Amino acid sequence: MQTEWLFLGTGAADWPALEPDTPFPQPDTYRRNASLLVDGHILIDGGPFVLESLRAFGLDPAAITDVFITHSHDDHYVPEVITALAAFARPAPLQLWYPSEAPLMLTEYAGLVLHPMLPGDQAHTGGFCVEALASNHHLSDSRETPLFYIFESAGGRWLYATDGSSLPVSSWKRLLLGVPLDAAIIEMTFGDVYDVPYLLEHNTLPIVREVVRIMRGNGVLKPGAPLYLTHLASMTHLPPAQFAPKALAEGWIAAVDGLQATISPLGADS
Ligand SMILES: [Zn+2]
Ligand SMILES: [Zn+2]
Repeated sequence: MQTEWLFLGTGAADWPALEPDTPFPQPDTYRRNASLLVDGHILIDGGPFVLESLRAFGLDPAAITDVFITHSHDDHYVPEVITALAAFARPAPLQLWYPSEAPLMLTEYAGLVLHPMLPGDQAHTGGFCVEALASNHHLSDSRETPLFYIFESAGGRWLYATDGSSLPVSSWKRLLLGVPLDAAIIEMTFGDVYDVPYLLEHNTLPIVREVVRIMRGNGVLKPGAPLYLTHLASMTHLPPAQFAPKALAEGWIAAVDGLQATISPLGADS
């Protein structure tokens, strides 16, 4: 068994919108807001460009059964996008999983089922058990706790960790006590910088280096488990084509828009 990922977007919030009719994807030079499609039917985050991305990749929005929202910043969640997605005819209503207390600006109706999530909650859907973890990120004027998610199925166990810097201790303990991961996707909003104002709510290259070293050293990641980077800002990173080899030199894969990856359970001694 395996899990298929398609990175619909790998950028942070600062990438400018493309002019209409610009060919897409342009993985060497451009990133759309971070979003991942899992096994063709589970979407993680629904930012402003998700419907365009699905169209650009020739994917049917009606195939989406579930959307998991990490937090309500508008590069990750746009209510009109979810409403448009829910409007496509599908056998069962669209399931929306989101941080409890997020200012959703949506109500449940026949085409949409709402599932608020708190850290520690689990969603059982589409053959996956999805556990929510608190992330270390900032939302002004909200009681919302932004979330990372651990996805587990017969196709492997993996972490989706954006947005947030490093991990809160509660989430770190959960990962330490849990079954080791077969793969992880971690944000690296900023590169090798120290002079941007949002450092302690997003990762930098040195923070990712340390987090991954600690994860591998404590068996949170299985030996050989791949580490993918997403949510990269335009203002502090090299263009995608130039950043990819720099990430590879660290042992990481810098995801680009349109990247497909196959994840499967790693053996105990792989
Ligand atoms: Zn973001
Ligand atoms: Zn954010």
